[in-house]
Amino acid sequence: MTKKRVGIIGAGPSGLAQLRAFEAAKKKGEEVPEVVCFEKQSNWGGMWNYSWRTGVGKYGEPIHGSMYKYLWSNGPKECLEFSDYSFDEHFEKPISSYPPRPVLFDYIQGRIKKDNVRDYIRFDTTARWISFDEDTKKFTMILDDLKNDRTYSEEFDYLVVASGHFSTPNMPYFKGIENFPGNVLHAHDFRGADQFKDQKLLLIGSSYSAEDIGVQCHKHGAKSVTLSYRTSPIGMDWPEGMKEKPLVTHFEDNVAHFKDGTTESYDAVIMCTGYQHKFPFLPDNMRLKTKNNLYPDHLYKGVFFNENPQLIYLGMQDQYYTFNMFDTQAWLARDYMLGKFELPSKEERREDINLWLERNEKLKNGDDHVDFQSDYIRDIIKLSDYPDFNLDKVAEMFKEWMKDKEDNILTYRDKTYQSVVTGTMAAEHHTDWMDEMDDSKERYLYEPEEEEDDDVKMNSTVV
Ligand code: FAD
Ligand code: NAP
Ligand code: MG
Repeated sequence: MTKKRVGIIGAGPSGLAQLRAFEAAKKKGEEVPEVVCFEKQSNWGGMWNYSWRTGVGKYGEPIHGSMYKYLWSNGPKECLEFSDYSFDEHFEKPISSYPPRPVLFDYIQGRIKKDNVRDYIRFDTTARWISFDEDTKKFTMILDDLKNDRTYSEEFDYLVVASGHFSTPNMPYFKGIENFPGNVLHAHDFRGADQFKDQKLLLIGSSYSAEDIGVQCHKHGAKSVTLSYRTSPIGMDWPEGMKEKPLVTHFEDNVAHFKDGTTESYDAVIMCTGYQHKFPFLPDNMRLKTKNNLYPDHLYKGVFFNENPQLIYLGMQDQYYTFNMFDTQAWLARDYMLGKFELPSKEERREDINLWLERNEKLKNGDDHVDFQSDYIRDIIKLSDYPDFNLDKVAEMFKEWMKDKEDNILTYRDKTYQSVVTGTMAAEHHTDWMDEMDDSKERYLYEPEEEEDDDVKMNSTVV
């Protein structure tokens, strides 16, 4: 009998979790299918693989990355730690709770560099179109080898969609914005706060992008930052130079008019208005259609597409938990593909989905959201051999983190947390986050030598 074939789209944290899950089974001596992962970028890491480019890449594909220079983890790393590969194992010393992007990128790579996972990935390859044959029960995937400008197709028994959902901007229109004389961009194209120094900025949105891009621009010397909300303000105790206002109604030249009747002029507008789940490679009947939320409809156990569970989606939820949640999903998906986890009937799956959807509807605040996602992970982690971790304690850390941010949005990243994987207490970073302008791995990991003051230097040269 020929081996089953698994196709994975995307080599970000979710796709890599799927590859790692199969490697873990292989190491235990289990027979695994042939796995091929397609990644349109030249390297793995998804969002964590920083791109300076905006618009299109070298081969004309839409740029995936939405990350920027000076991006630091916006939650404690103890809340996302892989339970089969700790920060201690990777860095061999305690590090702080909020590492910058290059450090987290390094950590993600550390776990998979140990295996031969890279051999399963075809880089510079875009999944262009997928169809499913009801008779053969196989997917046909049309692929573009970007480097060689070659189109080809292959067949798979299972399809894992791990293409992320924070890449295609949601870009609303506001009357008059077409005549705004300054820069108008979406958070997806924001690459660093430097260019906004001394400018008056208007950010539209009231979630993580608005909060962090606002704080980054403040830190790097913007003259002022206004955050404009649609539903509710973020509600922090903002430092001088930052404030929140209700939604913009329209623009006149460089002047924004707000719902409360006030007006103000700006130099640039950044739309922090979120992203669309976008799967241009899937036909309508296989496409996940959802807004960004904690339990997208149609996914049994958050992963199996109910109409056709040979189609698996990873990481499509809004995310408190990230890397460790993708792992629990990937381990469960693997066991289904190995025939070790059996799915109930379509109707039973629908009932299970509905229970989660009903509960999701009733959530009121951040604490509820954290408890909900913790319970979701609890529900699926027991179904595979992914190593258990203390979800109660992680949930507590998330709740502390929300309080830390409310206490002081400029200093929350200086706090430290304890690992549930190793028990290690995080180290304090050598420099306060507000004074740390360098996000390189080198500076982060190795404390800079104290600069000698002039007196000391003079004394030493006298001798
Ligand atoms: P992604 O990381 O988006 O990876 C998807 C991959 O699929 C990409 O490599 C892409 O090139 C590839 N792909 C897409 N389409 C195709 C195609 N058609 N063919 C082939 N390949 C394709 N999480 C945290 O835990 N902490 C943070 O501090 C944090 N900061 C963030 C900051 C920003 C600005 C954003 C946008 C997200 C942040 N996140 C953070 C959340 C982030 O989404 C997850 O950490 C993680 O990257 C999601 O992994 P993923 O693999 O599901 O998706
Ligand atoms: P998001 O959480 O989905 O939030 C979208 C925001 O856009 C909401 O505030 C929404 O307001 C607003 N919005 C949507 N349409 C609008 C409209 N027409 N007019 C006005 N407002 C509108 O998206 P996100 O903030 O971009 O975050 C995405 C991910 O990136 C998250 O996982 C986050 O953690 C991550 N991130 C991390 C960092 C970091 O520092 N590490 C930085 C940035 C982002 P409503 O409430 O009214 O719907
Ligand atoms: Mg388990």
